Amino acid sequence: MNQFCYGVVADRLNLNVEEFKRGLELGAFPADIVSEYGARICYNSIGKMYSNPGFAYKLVDAGHMDVFEHGHVTLMVDRDAVDGMRPFQSWFSNNKYASMYGNDGVVYFTASLRVWHSMVNVLPYEILLLLSKYTRLFDSMVETPLRDIEDANALQYPTYGEHFYENSHETSFGATVDLIKLHLPVPEHVPVPEAVFATFLVRGISRACSHQFVRHRLLSFSQMSQRYVDAMFGENIDVDTIEFLDTVRNNIVIPPSVIAHGRENEFVATAANSYRTYVQLRKAGLRKEDARFLLPNATKTDLVVTGNLFAWNHFLSLRDAKDAQWEIREVASAIGKFLTEYVSWYVWYNA
Ligand SMILES: Cc1cc2nc3c(=O)[nH]c(=O)nc-3n(C[C@H](O)[C@H](O)[C@H](O)COP(=O)(O)OP(=O)(O)OC[C@H]3O[C@@H](n4cnc5c(N)ncnc54)[C@H](O)[C@@H]3O)c2cc1C
Repeated sequence: MNQFCYGVVADRLNLNVEEFKRGLELGAFPADIVSEYGARICYNSIGKMYSNPGFAYKLVDAGHMDVFEHGHVTLMVDRDAVDGMRPFQSWFSNNKYASMYGNDGVVYFTASLRVWHSMVNVLPYEILLLLSKYTRLFDSMVETPLRDIEDANALQYPTYGEHFYENSHETSFGATVDLIKLHLPVPEHVPVPEAVFATFLVRGISRACSHQFVRHRLLSFSQMSQRYVDAMFGENIDVDTIEFLDTVRNNIVIPPSVIAHGRENEFVATAANSYRTYVQLRKAGLRKEDARFLLPNATKTDLVVTGNLFAWNHFLSLRDAKDAQWEIREVASAIGKFLTEYVSWYVWYNA
């Protein structure tokens, strides 16, 4: 390998998320772990993490490339060498999702796996080899398993997998927000907001809230699928029991104002009617994707969301604000607290 290329591994994973710890112990790469986690959220199959070595290729084949927006790799290249990489440099600098920045004679290239993958045809061989040391996405494209070759020049800082974040922030309505990955590749004295990516796991928000969330086009989302995941988590449930009502209550977000107005039972009963028919349609052989048309906006969902500091700042300026709807405001507030704590050099909310 040439002298001028270095890998920069800068991911901090939340080791309270059991699957991340296990992945690192298994030798998986952070960028791949987070991408698979995003995909598993869609299919409600977190328990199957790492069980299928071909999982990434299946996702590529299926065109489910958005999950690779959660994992990032930053490479550092000597500035002199960058001149010899013109086509690559030009592609990279023209990609609005990629970030190129420099410091002390070196150039940093930060991008998600999706972006790196999209440029595969213009990647200099040295870059491709180096990438294959930080993700398995390029395994089939290099002739030698490069990560086994000792490269004395490869810098790896800071090492990943040593970081614990605070436990979840819990909202007043029971949803949880966890910072699950921070990609912080820049040296502290060269803050580049576009190159710092934070990924959150948000559980238990309503579909009404998630719809507002996904309107933010600069963020990347993987959301639990209502086509592949059954809304009642088991169709054998008896719809005429008290337990059914409890299950419905647990499956929906009930706005505090509904409770304050003493209308909670009515709210749950109306939702239960939809869920009851949902289960009956499923038993009659209808697909989840059609039965779900009946489910209320209150239905809970989980998602993984990634964005750079610029995108998060914009999101927070709109949603951690007094005009924002209460549910997304609480989620935004939790996200803002994590970001101000862990990316303290950034001045927030000045968008
Ligand atoms: C209080 C409130 C009320 C709302 N009410 C409604 C409503 O009634 N109906 C409704 O439909 N939506 C509503 N929204 C959603 C709102 O219209 C936006 O879709 C959402 O807030 C995302 O904002 P954004 O487009 O600025 O952010 P993002 O999509 O995250 O984009 C971030 C920034 O990137 C740039 N950008 C991204 N894509 C483009 C592009 N294609 N062209 C040019 N620039 C781009 C812009 O500078 C943009 O500000 C509401 C939002 C809020 C906060």
